[in-house]
Amino acid sequence: MSGQWDETYDVVVGGTGVAALAAAVTAADAGMTVIMLESTDRWGGSSAMSGGGLWLPNNPLMARDGVSDSRDEALTYLEATVGDAGRATSRARKEAFVDGVAGFVNLAERLGVRFARAADYPDYYPELPGGKIGRAIEVEPFDVHTIGEWWATSRGQDGLPAPVKTDDFWLLSRAWSTPGGMARGAKVVARVLGTLLRRQKAVGMGAAITSSLLQVALRLGVEVRLSSPIIELVTEEGRVTGVRTSRGGTTRTIAAARGVVLCGGGFDHNVEWRERYQGVTGAASSGSTGNVGSAIEVAMKVGAAVDLMEDAWWGGSVPSPTPDGSAMFLVSERSMPHSIIVDGGGNRFANESESYVDLGHHMFQHFNLVPGTCWMITDVRHTHRYLRSYAMDPRSVKAMESAGIMVKAPTLAALAGRIRVDAGVLTATVDRFNGFCRAGIDHDSARGNSAYDRYYGDPLVRPNPNLGTIEKGPFAAVQVVPGDLGTKGGLLSDEYARVLRDDGSVIEGLYVSGNNSASVMGHTYPGPGSTLGPAAVFGYIAARHIATS
Ligand SMILES: Cc1cc2nc3c(=O)[nH]c(=O)nc-3n(C[C@H](O)[C@H](O)[C@H](O)COP(=O)(O)OP(=O)(O)OC[C@H]3O[C@@H](n4cnc5c(N)ncnc54)[C@H](O)[C@@H]3O)c2cc1C
Repeated sequence: MSGQWDETYDVVVGGTGVAALAAAVTAADAGMTVIMLESTDRWGGSSAMSGGGLWLPNNPLMARDGVSDSRDEALTYLEATVGDAGRATSRARKEAFVDGVAGFVNLAERLGVRFARAADYPDYYPELPGGKIGRAIEVEPFDVHTIGEWWATSRGQDGLPAPVKTDDFWLLSRAWSTPGGMARGAKVVARVLGTLLRRQKAVGMGAAITSSLLQVALRLGVEVRLSSPIIELVTEEGRVTGVRTSRGGTTRTIAAARGVVLCGGGFDHNVEWRERYQGVTGAASSGSTGNVGSAIEVAMKVGAAVDLMEDAWWGGSVPSPTPDGSAMFLVSERSMPHSIIVDGGGNRFANESESYVDLGHHMFQHFNLVPGTCWMITDVRHTHRYLRSYAMDPRSVKAMESAGIMVKAPTLAALAGRIRVDAGVLTATVDRFNGFCRAGIDHDSARGNSAYDRYYGDPLVRPNPNLGTIEKGPFAAVQVVPGDLGTKGGLLSDEYARVLRDDGSVIEGLYVSGNNSASVMGHTYPGPGSTLGPAAVFGYIAARHIATS
């Protein structure tokens, strides 16, 4: 193959999300030449559209704040939550993740990335052994003027164009009904005004982490090329030595002298694969439309094994009123009081405040893999007191009402009629739930028992901040369908992020991170940022392994 290359770099990275940026920055910092190839005409992937939270147990910011955590506690918690879900979740990979946290954070901070803790955000099972509150971090709001024209092609443009942090959301979700919410609302307004006065264009969350890492990458000389998918891996005697990429109808062959790191995301929008591997049709993914599994496929063609393909970062979503719009993922709304989720028969079937991955799994179990229609039923206090992300744009509300996705009625019986649910069953469900609310104990689903549930609750609602009666009209129902933040199955890799064959042997020269890989988190979601945390750390681990091999 030598002599036939169009270009040569030490490291070729596929994708431009957090996994890819972490790998690229680490490799460039180690003195290697790096090119990032992005398949679409916009960079950042789902990472740029995301909440930007990274679950990084035992991280250096916790130590600086005097918050106790340890390698042992982190691993104990990972065993308790993830357990054994196959080779992707091996003890060696769990240890590599926990051990890589400090290295990634310290490197990023040294290069100028500014992190902050989401100090109050609990692990999603904080009561399990090793569980804690405050392990997630995020990047401080970032002035995108500093990346110049690159902001115009960021997928972060689809997010909130303001310096809002993921740590703000739990309080903003009740900004006009609780003192804590109002105080945080005022703080956010002050932050917005401050950045405007400084003539900054500051963004937060996923847009902040991707822009911040991109700025570092550009400064370190990383070449970033859009509309340039990796369409094939080049191998020589079983080792991956480069890639083929196409741009504007022209194919180029790029040598990767030290290694290729695939970070091309999941197969969120590959309808055929989702049906084949997951048995779902029409799953409403909020992930980036560029994530179609092509970077998984190129590696499968050179013998890579895949795992966890049946799973995704599930959660309940409100379907979009327009065929091309993306689903609206529900986080705080379903957890707040004065709301329940019922199936088409009018019955509750899960703890509405549980983590989104659990709710997604429960929806599938309940519907036996056939997505059925569920409804979130709310009373007027939910409508007036809490932030409902799906109802922020009046035009979207109108479209949802016209499409029958959102329905309102003065009485529960009338609402039941409009959503074709037996009025007697719905009324009985609500009466039973209201009894739980008054007692403060949900005897059916234990809603509000965990600190995780209560994080997205209303402390003014007593005795249980997640349990508020549904009795004041007008009532509303909004459709809930199984949705996801992306898929979590992909290439099988070892503790150095090296891609493996089915027989466990290493494909030399090929590495993977993020949703392109089978997740170290297995079938669960241990804490806030459980996709971006490992994506960043295994990107870092891959580049360090390349640098030191
Ligand atoms: C609304 C929303 C909020 C979320 N919030 C959080 C959160 O707060 N914390 C968290 O941990 N997770 C969150 N997630 C999930 C998280 O964003 C994703 O799991 C994560 O971004 C995946 O990162 P990645 O680097 O693997 O892939 P991505 O960021 O999706 O990047 C993959 C990139 O690869 C490109 N690509 C695909 N195929 C190829 C190819 N063949 N060649 C070259 N490039 C290719 C894609 O176009 C894309 O740009 C959220 C997701 C959404 C949608």
